[in-house]
Amino acid sequence: MILETEKSGVTRRDFAAGAAAALLAGSPLPAQAALGTARVITVDTVGGPRFGIKSYPGTLPLADGELVLTFDDGPLPATTGPVLDALARDNVRATFFLIGRNARANPTFVRRIAAAGHTLANHTMNHPWTLRQRSFEAGMKDILDGQDAIEQAAGQKIAPFFRFPGFADTPELLAELSRRNIAVWGADLWASDWNEMTPEAQLQLITTRVVKARKGIVLLHDTRRQTAAMLPTFLSALNQRGFRVVHAVPA
Ligand SMILES: [Zn+2]
Repeated sequence: MILETEKSGVTRRDFAAGAAAALLAGSPLPAQAALGTARVITVDTVGGPRFGIKSYPGTLPLADGELVLTFDDGPLPATTGPVLDALARDNVRATFFLIGRNARANPTFVRRIAAAGHTLANHTMNHPWTLRQRSFEAGMKDILDGQDAIEQAAGQKIAPFFRFPGFADTPELLAELSRRNIAVWGADLWASDWNEMTPEAQLQLITTRVVKARKGIVLLHDTRRQTAAMLPTFLSALNQRGFRVVHAVPA
């Protein structure tokens, strides 16, 4: 499904490039369209499929140039707010893998994420480092507590999407998530924004990786200042280079 209306927004960035192209084409000056959300991909979670070639054999069926943006570990007001602002300016929808305790502490932001049309997903209650160091029972409890906390904060059900902290899964937890029809998300590429760096260095790193990979599930953290700071420019760079954002929702 192509959401043409999503492309109707205008961004002040890249105006010069659009204007130059219009002059060359002899047409009136257009406003550069926002990056937008090109289409929605519906994810069937029956059997607990696993996505993301960093950890698993397969990933989402994305075409060349298509990216699914995911943000982990929030919400935290200082950084999640600017991230949401940047996504809103470009009409981009993403998936947020929230930590339950952060959701409980910042319910306003959980509801703001939901109200903006992003997908809410689960990243455990307490972000154990890692679930491989916990018993199966303790691990499963932290996963289910996270889901409950996010749903209580949101006032609605969340997507049956789960991402392991540090991608540290276990065969037993994977089997149980499969039994519960919860999709497990890894990533196809990441920003490495757990490492401290300047917004400029962060922008350079993630842009280089996206250009090389051409498509995939991108992992970022809305809890990182460097990520929040570079996001508007990153979205603009994706737009300039012809990338398209795909929004993942559960079936
Ligand atoms: Zn995390």
